[in-house]
Amino acid sequence: MSEVQGGCLCGAIRYRLSQPFIFVGQCCCKDCQKATGTGHTTIIGVHKSQLALTGEPKRFTNAGASGGAVTRHFCADCGGRLYTAGDLPGDIIMVQAGSLDDPNIVKPERVIYVKDKVAWDFFDPALPQHEAMAPGPVPTKPSA
Ligand SMILES: [Zn+2]
Ligand SMILES: [Zn+2]
Repeated sequence: MSEVQGGCLCGAIRYRLSQPFIFVGQCCCKDCQKATGTGHTTIIGVHKSQLALTGEPKRFTNAGASGGAVTRHFCADCGGRLYTAGDLPGDIIMVQAGSLDDPNIVKPERVIYVKDKVAWDFFDPALPQHEAMAPGPVPTKPSA
């Protein structure tokens, strides 16, 4: 099981993330837009136990699309987004792919919440697009 590393912009929070990842997606939901200031966020689904953090992220919790509490973790100093917990069943969390030291190791495989997509945001047309959360069980994909 190989491991990759990442962290926030200022470096106060660092992490190690073990593979394989469960999924990689582009999320266009309005909360991701507000939280990042961009059209979408690229997320890596992993089990919570796959993430080992150094440093203490600040947290922000609100109600997700499913009605459950969604907690976003980010650096209190630089604002760099790290991961989100609470919107998926079980212990699955979503790590912000852009926080990886080498974000090119991930390959997005779907686009979710396209109902909220902004007109100027574009995606690989080969990717399946879902109106909201992808239906059915989350597919397992070997890491690239
Ligand atoms: Zn930071
Ligand atoms: Zn989202």
